[in-house]
Amino acid sequence: MTMNAYPAANAHPATLLRPEIADLEEYTPIQPFEVLSRRLGIPAERIIKLDANENPYGPLPVVAEALAEYPFYHIYPDPQQAELREALSGFVGVPAANILPTHGADELLDYLCRLFLQPGDAILNCPPTFGMYSFDAGLVGGKTIEVWRKPDHAVDVAAIEQAMGDWPIEINREQSPIVAPPKVKLLFLTSPNNPSGNWLADEDLRRLLALPLLVVLDEAYVEFADYPSRADWVLQYDNLVILRTFSKAAGIAGLRLGYGICPAWLMAQLWKFKQPYNVNVAASVAGLASLQHVDQIMAVVGKLKDERNRLFALLQTLPYLRPYPTQANFILCDVVGRDAKQLKQALEQRGVLVRHYNKPGLQNCIRISVGRPEQTDRLLEILRELVTL
Ligand SMILES: *Cc1c(COP(=O)(O)O)cnc(C)c1O
Repeated sequence: MTMNAYPAANAHPATLLRPEIADLEEYTPIQPFEVLSRRLGIPAERIIKLDANENPYGPLPVVAEALAEYPFYHIYPDPQQAELREALSGFVGVPAANILPTHGADELLDYLCRLFLQPGDAILNCPPTFGMYSFDAGLVGGKTIEVWRKPDHAVDVAAIEQAMGDWPIEINREQSPIVAPPKVKLLFLTSPNNPSGNWLADEDLRRLLALPLLVVLDEAYVEFADYPSRADWVLQYDNLVILRTFSKAAGIAGLRLGYGICPAWLMAQLWKFKQPYNVNVAASVAGLASLQHVDQIMAVVGKLKDERNRLFALLQTLPYLRPYPTQANFILCDVVGRDAKQLKQALEQRGVLVRHYNKPGLQNCIRISVGRPEQTDRLLEILRELVTL
């Protein structure tokens, strides 16, 4: 960088950055597949990737065909995504007017934080959970108030109510502007939760919806659950937003397609706010082709659920793992009597990738995504070998 364009008397342009951005810590990405393959000396196609809850079956064959045949990649996408929204309406049973497709569900998280949070405002977060909520809040200078889950990972509804009661927000703000508590605006809930896999009960959700907050319910894994989506609750609750995605059940994480199910008043704001071409044509073509074959997607989901149940039973037979019951396509396990990180590394050396955690609320744990039956078999073979190691 040449500095001479900025005489000594002038501050460096980096000082113009928003302070919350300058102070941000860089995100540590996971190692790309090819890099890892080279490091381990294992060909990429032989690596068993069970670390990011991706769908091992990938997109339906009809999706690849639709992508190959689509003739209009040189034309901009429809900013209103009318066809896709209509198809999504048929899938989730909510009017198209309440559905907003996005560049992955992650994009909607970013929109919601930017729509609602001013610097100093806060979100309520229930760790251990998905990391993007507090990350996106932090990008706009928002604070995160953590209300920890109970030992079984259930959301602590009473503690959330208590936390809200601790800040009679509007009143305090006016009475003591100097030490004003943050204005808590968004409550992020995940069901099934990532990484614990547990479900949020209807009655808990109802109680939380009575709070003066916008409740964002992330249903990224709902297709794998034995309980129905709460998508249609959006028509009854003005303070509920539901997030869904094609990344997990539909197997197109790399194409980036998610959607929000939102009350009408919020849709009106999102239309003004969103990037016109946020969903690219390839994602849209793939989404539409998938929605024309929901039966096939649900057949794959059924296969993965069966495999999840088989994997759970097998994991229970290992002396050093305690799997938690799950409603998603992954299983969180406490690692008992040995180091979870070493276990993760031993698996990695043998070509199997899992996610490992060691932080408050997730001490000495691994999370295993559900793979194909032969991948489960290989995983178990290694885990059994490791018993005596
Ligand atoms: C994977 C995941 C998402 C992200 O979905 P994208 O559509 O790929 O952005 C959202 N929430 C949770 C809890 C997830 O695990």
